[in-house]
Amino acid sequence: MKPAPFEYIVPDSVAETTALLAEYGDEAKVLAGGQSLVPAMNFRLVQPTMLVDINRLTDLDYVNQGADSLKIGALTRQRTIEKHPLIEAYAPLLHETMPHVAHWQIRNRGTVGGSLVHADPAAEIPVIMVALNARFRLRNARGDRWVTATDCFEGLFATALTPEDLLVEVEIPFMASRTGCCFVEFARRAGDYALLGVAAVLTLDEAGVCSNARLVYLNAGEIPISAVQAEAMLIGEKPTAELFAAAADKAATDEINPSGDIHASEPYLRHLGRVLTKRALTNALERVDNGL
Ligand code: FAD
Repeated sequence: MKPAPFEYIVPDSVAETTALLAEYGDEAKVLAGGQSLVPAMNFRLVQPTMLVDINRLTDLDYVNQGADSLKIGALTRQRTIEKHPLIEAYAPLLHETMPHVAHWQIRNRGTVGGSLVHADPAAEIPVIMVALNARFRLRNARGDRWVTATDCFEGLFATALTPEDLLVEVEIPFMASRTGCCFVEFARRAGDYALLGVAAVLTLDEAGVCSNARLVYLNAGEIPISAVQAEAMLIGEKPTAELFAAAADKAATDEINPSGDIHASEPYLRHLGRVLTKRALTNALERVDNGL
């Protein structure tokens, strides 16, 4: 497989990059880790006439601790996120999830920004960003704007970015105290895209009542799917195994929308949704005291 002919340019600055994206519009594509874009070009699913390689923009490669949030540059490699002590300390859900993203060879090149903009419904990082109420800083030649992770994912491989936008930064708010979280997925082979996965976040008040709950699924629709009805069942209640089972049933029956295929039927995937949700909630509850 060979890509359609294209021109290739390697800008030295973010300003130069956004100027190029403004000039070429939807004729251009940003090349980050290339782990999704290059195969798509080789299959001619994507045929940019101008490839804008952002790998010299090393100022977009960072993990910083802010006053109340973590800030991650869009060009930060997935492997860096997996190993970074600040991510482990302040975003344990993301830390737990990273080994599930492809294979380490791919994570060495793949970037946080590339995974988010690619917006594969089976990808882990978009789900975690929705679960953690992250937001994204987008830049184009006219300036910056922010979009929440929840609003960013609009459809299958479709986001709120225009062809002129560069994702430059991801901001993840610190978790509230007394919060526990867990990510679980099931894949047929280690490193494969998962059949289904769920991120659970639970916050309890001092009386042990659930004050906040998040349940976000991968491969359960065209975008990361939030099970808002199941979350509402949890909020205001003291967690019990029966409550978790009821919330898991609500999410798996009414809120996720997995499409069965030759690997797994839809009823099987809904069953998997029940099992994984109960497991994620149970683990999240056990971790409420230390967040991990
Ligand atoms: P690229 O491929 O360079 O770009 C992807 C898209 O994002 C392109 O449209 C590009 O133009 C755009 N883009 C990139 N950066 C920016 C930016 N800063 N601003 C605007 N647009 C941008 N992913 C998973 O989540 N889970 C898996 O299990 C998984 N398994 C995989 C298995 C294999 C065999 C392979 C090849 C990939 C797998 N992936 C998986 C995908 C992998 O994580 C990719 O690295 C990731 O999806 C894309 O990141 P990238 O940096 O390589 O982006």
